[in-house]
Amino acid sequence: MSHDHFRFLPHHKSPDDPGEDPMVFAFKGRDLLVTEEGSLPGVGQIDEAGFEAVRRQYLGSLDGRHCYSAELEDEAQPAGGLRFSNLHGLYASLDEATHAVAGRAVQIVEWDKTHQFCGACAQPTVVSEMDRSRACPNCKIPMYPRLAPAMIVSVERGDEILLARSPHFPAGIMSVLAGFVEPGESAEDAVKREVYEETKILVKNVQYFSSQAWPFPNSLMLGFRAEYESGDIVIDNEEIVAAEWFKASEMPNFFPGRVSISQWLIHDFLKRNGVEPPS
Ligand SMILES: [Zn+2]
Repeated sequence: MSHDHFRFLPHHKSPDDPGEDPMVFAFKGRDLLVTEEGSLPGVGQIDEAGFEAVRRQYLGSLDGRHCYSAELEDEAQPAGGLRFSNLHGLYASLDEATHAVAGRAVQIVEWDKTHQFCGACAQPTVVSEMDRSRACPNCKIPMYPRLAPAMIVSVERGDEILLARSPHFPAGIMSVLAGFVEPGESAEDAVKREVYEETKILVKNVQYFSSQAWPFPNSLMLGFRAEYESGDIVIDNEEIVAAEWFKASEMPNFFPGRVSISQWLIHDFLKRNGVEPPS
C-alpha cells in the first residue's frame, strides 16, 4: 500500500522512531482528549498538561505521521486548556480521515483494556507480534478487536420510503430501519429479517448501497436499498413505536446533518424523487 492511494496505513507495531510530530488519540473511557476548538492536541500539549497513559497502542500512519492511542485513567480531569469530548461531537472539528482514526483508536483502546486476561482460563494475555491481537499463553486463544456488522436499509415502495421511530430517538425523529447481523446470517438475510421483525413488511431486491464504520461502540454499518414486496405495517411498540410510508415531498423530521449512513440513504431517496436534500 502507498500514500498515493491511502491516507491512513494501519500497522500494529510501532516504529523505533515515532518521528517529530506523532498524533496521539488519548481517551478517558470513550471520550477523546481535544483542544477547546475540538482539534487534536499536540504531544507537547498533552505532556505539559500532565496526562499519563495507562496503556498505549500504535495505530499506523496518517499522511505519514505516526498515530498512537493512549488510554488515560478514569479519574483524568480536563487540564492545560484540553477537554474531553465524545466522537459524535467532533464530526465538524476533525477532518474525516482524522475522525476515522479516532474511531479506530477508541475501539482498539477498549479492546486492549478488556482483553488483558483470557476469558477461558483467566491467565494474563500477551501481545501478538504478528498482528493486532492478544493471545492466552495457556490455551492459545487469539483475541482480536471486536467488529459488529449491522445493516441499515432504505425500504421503498414506488415513490415512498419506509421510516420508523425507535423509542431511543429524539422526539419526532423518524429514520430508516437498522439492526445487527446475527451469526450465520448474510447481510441480505439480516435486511429481510429485521424489516419483517420490526414492521411485518416483506422486501425483495436487496441491493448494496454503501458502508460506514460506526464506532458507537464497534459497528460496521452496511447500507442497503430494498423494494417492498408485500404486507401491511404492524409494529411491536417496543423496538419500534411508529412506522409509516412517506413521499419525498411529505417527509417527517429525520436526523439532521450529513455524517451518518442513515442520512446518506434518506438523501439518496430524496434526490431520486426530485427533492433536494437539506444541507
Ligand atoms: Zn486461556
